Amino acid sequence: MKTKIWLSSPHMGGDEQAFVKEAFDQNWIAPLGPNVNGFEEDLQNYNNVNAVAALSAGTAALHLAMILLGVKAGDEVIASSFTFSATVNPITYLGATPVLVDSEEDTWNMSPLLLEKAIKERIANGKKPKAIMVVHLYGMPAKIKEIVEVASRFNIPVIEDAAEALGSKYQGQALGTFGKMGVYSFNGNKIITTSGGGALASNDTDLIAKSRFLATQARDAAPHYQHTHIGYNYRMSNITAGIGRGQMKVLDDHIALRRQNHMFYQELFKEVEGVTVFTEPSEDYYSNHWLSCVVVDPSRTGGISREDLRLAMEKENIECRPLWKPMHMQPVFADCPFYGDGTAERLFETGLCLPSGSNMTDEDRERIATVLKEVFKS
Ligand SMILES: *Cc1c(COP(=O)(O)O)cnc(C)c1O
Repeated sequence: MKTKIWLSSPHMGGDEQAFVKEAFDQNWIAPLGPNVNGFEEDLQNYNNVNAVAALSAGTAALHLAMILLGVKAGDEVIASSFTFSATVNPITYLGATPVLVDSEEDTWNMSPLLLEKAIKERIANGKKPKAIMVVHLYGMPAKIKEIVEVASRFNIPVIEDAAEALGSKYQGQALGTFGKMGVYSFNGNKIITTSGGGALASNDTDLIAKSRFLATQARDAAPHYQHTHIGYNYRMSNITAGIGRGQMKVLDDHIALRRQNHMFYQELFKEVEGVTVFTEPSEDYYSNHWLSCVVVDPSRTGGISREDLRLAMEKENIECRPLWKPMHMQPVFADCPFYGDGTAERLFETGLCLPSGSNMTDEDRERIATVLKEVFKS
């Protein structure tokens, strides 16, 4: 069997172990310490945002963001339907109801038009949504300025799920810094990884201070353990943060390499009728191209579907994956209100994520090209 080519696998830069060793040498083996502070500072500077809290996971950051906005049982929270379940799960942790909104064709992200429709109808139904959770999927910026504009007209705070979009920009500004709060993830397959971890960012330093308080069991200032709030154990470990500090040194390299992968696929599919590579709609958008994706239209490929492509790759031990199955199509969220026009559903049926790791070799790309040329040879 040929070695496996992964969709996206961890890619260490080389300095990670030095930061981890420093934590051991100084005995900072705890969910606080110099690496946690350093990693937060790195993320702050990189994204040009006032404050960042390093946390145990992106999911934890999403959960805390909603707690900080006062989301409670019985509330409604609007979220992108076309996403990974981790965007929507924390809404239900709080006993609130997700209201799912469909994507638009050009960015694959939340449609500002459907968002406005959803807000108006929920308000007419008697409940104003407490928050809007907008996702920047596969690193592609959503129409974030329009979404923030719609949201602010109704005075609803926006949380950006930028778990897949660290380093992506809209009109030169880092994603995760347009809304009230932004969320990043450092899980194993993201553009940089700490093995597992996440962060919450905001220009409101007070909110981030509160998130740190809630993330460390909400301990009040007192010599004994005193609590006036429900707390969580969501802080990032100083070991993990050391990996993050090393990864920050190579983040820009990883983005350049992933963008090169995207160009490689664009070149490869240039002549292939019926296969469209997912690309920025205009100069305003700068995607980290975390994953390169294509949409396959069998009516234009002579009947070849994305499943044919996926299975041909699988046979050669090359991992590909259908796009995220929209949340409104998931059994667990089937009862949630949904505002849509079929876009995400269509994308799910015809779309495929291709190997996109920053550690792919020329030999890997050669193997991928061989399979693609074979599948589309007619
Ligand atoms: C990975 C991911 C998350 C969750 O982040 P974790 O760090 O794995 O908890 C949330 N939303 C999206 C869109 C993701 O891709």
